[in-house]
Amino acid sequence: MNETPILADPKALTLEKITSLDGLIILVVKTTQQKALCPSCHQPSSRIHSHYQRQVADLPWQGTRVRMQLLTRKFFCLEVNCPQRIFCERIGSVVAAYARQTIRLNDSLRLIGMMLGGQAGTFLAKRLGMPISGDTLLRRIRQSLLPDNPTPRVLGVDDWAFQKGHRYGTLLVDLERHRPVDLLPDRESSTLANWLRQHPGVEIISRDRALFYAEAAREGAPDAVQVADRWHLLKNLGEAVERFVTRNQSILAPSAAKVTQCQLIEYANKLEPVSMLSSRNPSEVAQRREQRYARYCEVKKLYTQGVLQRDIARATGISEPTIRKYIRAENFPERAKVQLGSKLEPYIPYLHQRWVEGCENATQLWHEVKAKGYSGKIKMVERYVRRLRKQRKNFTLQQQRQFLQAQATFKLPNARRVARWLLKPSEQLKLEQQTFIKYVCDECPEFRTLQNLALSFQELIQQRQQADTLDEWLAQALGSQFLEMKNFALGIQQDYLAVAAALKYEWSNGQVEGQINKLKLIKRQMYGRAKLDLLKARMLHVF
Ligand SMILES: [Zn+2]
Repeated sequence: MNETPILADPKALTLEKITSLDGLIILVVKTTQQKALCPSCHQPSSRIHSHYQRQVADLPWQGTRVRMQLLTRKFFCLEVNCPQRIFCERIGSVVAAYARQTIRLNDSLRLIGMMLGGQAGTFLAKRLGMPISGDTLLRRIRQSLLPDNPTPRVLGVDDWAFQKGHRYGTLLVDLERHRPVDLLPDRESSTLANWLRQHPGVEIISRDRALFYAEAAREGAPDAVQVADRWHLLKNLGEAVERFVTRNQSILAPSAAKVTQCQLIEYANKLEPVSMLSSRNPSEVAQRREQRYARYCEVKKLYTQGVLQRDIARATGISEPTIRKYIRAENFPERAKVQLGSKLEPYIPYLHQRWVEGCENATQLWHEVKAKGYSGKIKMVERYVRRLRKQRKNFTLQQQRQFLQAQATFKLPNARRVARWLLKPSEQLKLEQQTFIKYVCDECPEFRTLQNLALSFQELIQQRQQADTLDEWLAQALGSQFLEMKNFALGIQQDYLAVAAALKYEWSNGQVEGQINKLKLIKRQMYGRAKLDLLKARMLHVF
């Protein structure tokens, strides 16, 4: 780390005094040089005319603003022929002529502006003790010199949106050095052709499939090899598939409904039939029986001792009908077991399914099972639904999540998403997506044929197979029944050389997309209002 000295240039300046005033540090500074050069004739002079004070802002100290009071001299020019008679001395290493800020303060501000843009930069600079207005900060960025990039051998070209759908620009990237080289104000082929003519030496141009770039490359750099960008080829393929899906949209909704139904049934099948016996656990059941048995024995004992039923009831607190029941019973009367409603049992899977679908209304469910042949009472259904509800209360978190997932039905995907699923290896799809694709293809076998055709092109590009494989594929696609694939293949035929080059060369525009993301970020940081020169300065600047 290089250290910053207290004074901007210790060799040229000496510190006389430090004072502070209203949250401002003031350095009184003198120059050390004996002589000064006349700016017109560049001859030295040591004859002093007068002194004056220059106020120059410098880098802050720990967040406090610093102002230099620079004691400056005026000199007589001693050269007889010089038109300038008096001149002010200049300290080029510290501050530019007429400037109100030191060079190093300016550099810091420019760096902040480059990194953050006007608004955020102003905010940060103020916090750091370098207050500056947004406009001034932007002016600092504009003033900075653009780096002098060598002409790239391998050039990546892509467009980017000033304003989506309205205005586009062109980004040029040196693919070997991984650096943006230039930003063009539009995507006209003449603009790019001119740039290529002014920068001879480009050997390979990787570009998207737009015809204007192809034309520009032909005109501006006729010897350069054009490479169609593989990412854009696959994107175009995806768009062709999407158009096919859009044309056959009517298949999608029924298939999605089937997936939903499938999911619900699958989950409902996982639900155990709820026991109608008792909601209590077995030990509790046993304990209650024990208590009942003890009371039974007591009643029997008192009865054999000749106590009246009424008195037994008073002594034990048991109701008289129960006492009568106990007295009459030969053995201890066990609780009658409530069997799982045998009439309801065949309908339980159906109830589960409806339950998962969200129907909790017992009367509604009763009507439904009745229509399916249930001959039992509504009470049974009510009781079953009550038990289901109670069971759900005791669900673990995971069970609750599963339940909610089962209820969240499969959403009908749009054509773009379906196109993406068709082009993805099935192991990368979720189970429901796989099922959906399977239903769609079962419903309309053309989907499967088109998918295979598209996948083989995708493989061809991704694995960069031989050009004759491309020829075979083109023949197959042009002979196919799919309008969208035919058009796509025709487009490739028009750009055949560049597509074949995409199989041969490894160059691709992947990193250009990365640079475009960076550009978009800078653009948005400036609230989308940045002009080209600002974007260019921030985009091409080397830190
Ligand atoms: Zn002079």
